[in-house]
Amino acid sequence: MGNRTLAIIKPDAIRARRQGKIIDRILQAGFEIQAARIIRMTKSQAEGFYEVHRGRPFYEELTTFMSSGSCLPMVLEKEDAVEEFRKLIGATDPAQAAPGTIRKDFAASVGENAVHGSDSDENAEKEVAFFFTTGDILSNL
Ligand code: ADP
Ligand code: MG
Repeated sequence: MGNRTLAIIKPDAIRARRQGKIIDRILQAGFEIQAARIIRMTKSQAEGFYEVHRGRPFYEELTTFMSSGSCLPMVLEKEDAVEEFRKLIGATDPAQAAPGTIRKDFAASVGENAVHGSDSDENAEKEVAFFFTTGDILSNL
């Protein structure tokens, strides 16, 4: 298992000024933040990031939402980071997310669900490279 994942605090959470509380959860769960940026994606960048979902019924809504405001992508490090971060954020639909998870506590809907987390080590590496270059990441220095 890899030790790195790509997290994004999504525009809904930034608009609600919840980024501090979400970052606190991440730190309290033992993740190291190895890189972070605040960005605003264009529609076509959001389409590129979510390329795997192209053709799904929610693709248009998702990419419009992800380019609707600023986002905070981060490289997180911890043993089994992908799986551990998915546990911390909970199910895609906050109504289905376990108590104490970030999505349960900070998200409003299945579309606007506060955070992104990579779903495999392979995708984590691709997603890290989408937002960061080697020199941006502390653990690489
Ligand atoms: P996850 O983010 O939990 O890995 P997916 O990869 O299945 O979930 O979907 C990517 C993102 O697309 C979700 O986080 C959510 O923002 C959005 N999404 C997924 N399913 C739906 C849906 N049924 N309706 C609206 N948006 C959705
Ligand atoms: Mg996913």
